[in-house]
Amino acid sequence: MLTPRQGVGLVLIVVSLPMLLTGGVLTIFIGLEYSMTALAIGLALVIIGVVVMAIPGKPRPPSSPAIAAELRLLSGVTMPAAAGVAPPPRKVECPSCGASPSQVPPSGVVTCEYCEQTYVV
Ligand SMILES: [Zn+2]
Repeated sequence: MLTPRQGVGLVLIVVSLPMLLTGGVLTIFIGLEYSMTALAIGLALVIIGVVVMAIPGKPRPPSSPAIAAELRLLSGVTMPAAAGVAPPPRKVECPSCGASPSQVPPSGVVTCEYCEQTYVV
């Protein structure tokens, strides 16, 4: 898909092409000295359009599941280390026996240490 920036560049190119053509036709009929302005403006607009399209836009925030999982992993690892203790981030209880897990993996899938029940946090 086109980004807004690429759309602007495309419009500039589309608008400038007829101007370039007009300049070319004028060159044939009335000579280069009279058509120079139209040619120069058309050429400048084409170049600006190409440059605008070629410049990459702002980098998008990470949205892929892999990166999101990695960020979760990083925050899960660094937070307890910074605090000096390793409490579970929130109250989690095993649905089978009610025990709290000593740690919750980034995947959110916890296997109970007491009854081996696997559940998703
Ligand atoms: Zn349990």
